[in-house]
Amino acid sequence: MRFTLFLRKMVLTASLSAAALAQTEHVNPWSPVNVAPLPPIASLSDGVWLKGDLHLHSRHSKDSSNNSEAKIIGFAESVGMDYLAITDHDNHVQGDVAHNTWTDPEFKSNSVLLLYGAEWTTTRGHGNAFSARPYDHQRLYDVRDQRDIVIGAVKKELGIHLSANHPSGKDHFGFSYDMVDSIEVWNSAVWSKNANAIMIWDDMLSSGRKLTGRGGSDSHHGTPDTPEQATKNTYQRQANYVGTPTTWVYAKERTLQAVVDALTNGRVAVSANPYAPRVEFYADLDQDGKMDMMMGDNAKATGKAATFRIQLTGNTVQGAQYTLHVVKDGNPFKTLQATGGKTTIAEFTDTPQALGRTYYRVEVEGPPTAYPQVPGSTALNGNMVGLSNPLYFNFDPNF
Ligand SMILES: [Zn+2]
Ligand SMILES: [Zn+2]
Repeated sequence: MRFTLFLRKMVLTASLSAAALAQTEHVNPWSPVNVAPLPPIASLSDGVWLKGDLHLHSRHSKDSSNNSEAKIIGFAESVGMDYLAITDHDNHVQGDVAHNTWTDPEFKSNSVLLLYGAEWTTTRGHGNAFSARPYDHQRLYDVRDQRDIVIGAVKKELGIHLSANHPSGKDHFGFSYDMVDSIEVWNSAVWSKNANAIMIWDDMLSSGRKLTGRGGSDSHHGTPDTPEQATKNTYQRQANYVGTPTTWVYAKERTLQAVVDALTNGRVAVSANPYAPRVEFYADLDQDGKMDMMMGDNAKATGKAATFRIQLTGNTVQGAQYTLHVVKDGNPFKTLQATGGKTTIAEFTDTPQALGRTYYRVEVEGPPTAYPQVPGSTALNGNMVGLSNPLYFNFDPNF
């Protein structure tokens, strides 16, 4: 009996020390390493800024009112939009958006690029699909309740851009973020309700996911043709419609594919409306006075200081103060001021760590820009002017 106890004790001691030994020999295979040479950064000048709305509902969504595609597209043309994604609820047509939203005779424009897409409306939440060409959306609808690994494979086969919608709150995106290319960080004119979406975005970025932040008005209701056609939701038309907010993409050219590519790559900014200033964010890596990268780009950190430039392009208010909040790796980093004028620019320097990831992004507050076609939206935006996507350092492109 005693001997058995003794033996047990010996075994226990031996296994403990083996475990301790294993622990000291442990090497985390995921710890930061020098990233392999990264793909070269695309041209900062050979492209075009295009503005649009990536979340809209037409009459093919049963919860919309007075919102034909002609009404949406006509309005978008009148305020100078470059692209639109009409994203009707796919469950309202049992997945067959192809024979509803896309084959509607009104789905056409001479000046606005119309993406093929839909709002993937599932038990576990909502996401938007975007594509430069028609794709078999029915397949995505059919797998909506399957495991994420099945859905991810279908998404990949279809070659679409998938985006997480209104990620916090009702109908939040309840799937893995590993299968999406972007996240809706600004849903509708009501900026204040997006705080949790921004928090989720920062969590995804901080954990190494290079995920584009985008906007979407999620507007459902148009102007009635006659007073009798008004619904209980018609009031929304004056406060939330096409362009509240507006998503800017720096596209290689004015084509549908270039819009989707820019969205995937992250050369994207979101503004309160189409007339509000656009936030551009650049870095000069060798401090030679010439900018080397813009938001969405991923560079290898040199271990030396870089100069960062925040630029507001468009209708800034002459002489007004703009507050630029810089977020670094999910935490408030710096608050800068810039005065509105011909050039509204602020710069700072910092040294991204040589080993491991760093990201910087910017949110801008200041005087609201009037949007006469959607007059109630400015009050809902508050002082929020716009936001940039991150500048990335040492992000693993094969993550
Ligand atoms: Zn939704
Ligand atoms: Zn929606």
